[in-house]
Amino acid sequence: MPKCNCFQETLEKTKEHLSKQLPDGATEFEVSWKNFAFFFSGDRAPVNPEIEYKYRAMRRNQTPAKNLTKKTIGIMCSFCPFCGRKLGA
Ligand SMILES: [Zn+2]
Repeated sequence: MPKCNCFQETLEKTKEHLSKQLPDGATEFEVSWKNFAFFFSGDRAPVNPEIEYKYRAMRRNQTPAKNLTKKTIGIMCSFCPFCGRKLGA
């Protein structure tokens, strides 16, 4: 199955849609995917879901840390979320 352009096509459609809603005289209009990542190899979705987690760590002196530790991990899509094409071939 050939690679799809779903992310690019969706971005272009959205840009067209949004451009009609801009207030009169608006300039420097830009549209982009949030968390877009360019993969140099492999067949990947350029935007993938993320899971965030947080916890309160215990300090060396066995008292709880003042601030929560917050982290994020990305999960790779196995299929294109738009057309359902299998990725990673
Ligand atoms: Zn697709």
